[in-house]
Amino acid sequence: MTELEKKQSRAPVPSGWDYAPAPEARDIVRIEERYGHFVGGEWLEPRETYTTIAPASEEPLAEVGQATPEEVRSAIQAARDAFQNGWSALPGSERAKYLFRIARILQERSREFAVLESLNGGKPIKESRDVDLPLAAAHFFYYAGWADKLEYAFPNRRPKPIGVAGQIIPWNFPLLMLAWKIAPALAAGNTVVLKPAETTPLTALLFCDVVRQAELPPGVVNIVTGDGRTGVEIVKGDVDKIAFTGSTDVGKTIQRELAGTGKRLTLELGGKAANIVFDDCALDQAVEGIVNGIYFNQGHVCCAGSRLFVQESIYEDVVKKLKRRMKTLRVGDPLDKNTDVGAINSRQQLEKIKELVAAGEQEGAEIYQPPCKLPEKGYWFVPTVFTNVAQSYRIAQEEIFGPVLSVLTFRTPDEAVEKANNTPYGLSAGIWTEKGSRILWMAERLRAGVIWANTFNRFDPASPFGGYKESGFGREGGRHGLEPYLKFE
Ligand code: NDP
Repeated sequence: MTELEKKQSRAPVPSGWDYAPAPEARDIVRIEERYGHFVGGEWLEPRETYTTIAPASEEPLAEVGQATPEEVRSAIQAARDAFQNGWSALPGSERAKYLFRIARILQERSREFAVLESLNGGKPIKESRDVDLPLAAAHFFYYAGWADKLEYAFPNRRPKPIGVAGQIIPWNFPLLMLAWKIAPALAAGNTVVLKPAETTPLTALLFCDVVRQAELPPGVVNIVTGDGRTGVEIVKGDVDKIAFTGSTDVGKTIQRELAGTGKRLTLELGGKAANIVFDDCALDQAVEGIVNGIYFNQGHVCCAGSRLFVQESIYEDVVKKLKRRMKTLRVGDPLDKNTDVGAINSRQQLEKIKELVAAGEQEGAEIYQPPCKLPEKGYWFVPTVFTNVAQSYRIAQEEIFGPVLSVLTFRTPDEAVEKANNTPYGLSAGIWTEKGSRILWMAERLRAGVIWANTFNRFDPASPFGGYKESGFGREGGRHGLEPYLKFE
């Protein structure tokens, strides 16, 4: 033992930092035993139900409806009636009032929503509290502002709403994806039928209460729950547009189904983002960005920085700092305010992550997982990093959608661009460098819809978001996000 270490062990300060649990109270939210479908402003008693659970404990939370084809049809009809009976003809300034109201109610009830989001989805409370909820409210505020300015947003094009939008969303940001879909649709004068993901229906169902509180006319927002079969019925139904966020495979199926029908479509699909670190960057800041890029929301993020490209000259340093930082990540109870990494959303997703991690080891990559005690019940995965990764490995090509990072290297900016673009996806990318000119040079060449410089995973309602190639098409957010919900004369 060195002299320094001996001194440290005798020091009166604790050798490690242990955090006492700081659980957020869950009694702020009241979960019903059973939920129906929200159709025409009323709760429709479901014919079939399933149980939704808390992925952190596998505890059953509620019975929710598995919508049948007739139930989906009645939701679409309610949306059609509401569209024709007043909503689409309402002045934009009136629609804006409802959207502002919804935004304010979301802010007022944000703690309730944050707790429910973490319970049903497994994400850490500090993320649902500080990211999902503020952003969801911000989207309603933002699009409320556009509702009476559509003529200015699209001058000389006479924008008109298109009708009924069918909206199908995933489980990684349940309420935020709902806001991304519903806010622009309503601002543009459409009505909607939305299906939350099978595993995370509860915040969408609580949102129905907000819709009522805001006194939104019945039928403008309809929510039906269920698994992929419900999604299929919405796609087949009498809707004018489908907005889908989810896997590339399902996106392709929907595109095939809609081909030739004249229905509009936007797809926000998977990703395998490159996070590119140059040797002149602020290293500690970059390491924080790498950690945020891949371990935020357990890596259940379509734009996650899951492929890390490090310039060869700083490779050892980056990997060392990254591993040290990973040791400080606290994995556990999503409702604990100290938790950095929560539960994996479902058993099915956990199996998928395990399968791809096993493939990475088998193909020859080197795995590192920090020492970490996982809870006994629920679905968990230790934050993982792979080094010694070849571009052809499955872990460098396929979307893992979990807390798993693959590290690769490059020597020159040209090589970084070539490797970063070597993917079927094109949703996002990150660049870490001191040089502004290099940021612009890289951004011009990277085939990705969103590019962050010296930061990662930053979202703003005013900024359009969407992909290239197999990451989909169409943009959500900003003025661009209104366009898919409008027709022009
Ligand atoms: P899916 O694409 O299956 O789910 C997205 C939504 O579509 C859900 O509401 C789902 O319902 C619904 N759906 C499923 N099948 C159909 C269909 N044929 N027609 C219409 N709607 C359908 O994603 P998964 O939840 O199965 O996740 C699988 C993988 O997809 C993940 O591992 C990840 O790689 C990727 N993914 C990407 C996301 C992104 O943001 N880009 C988000 C989620 C997943 P149900 O919930 O019942 O399945």
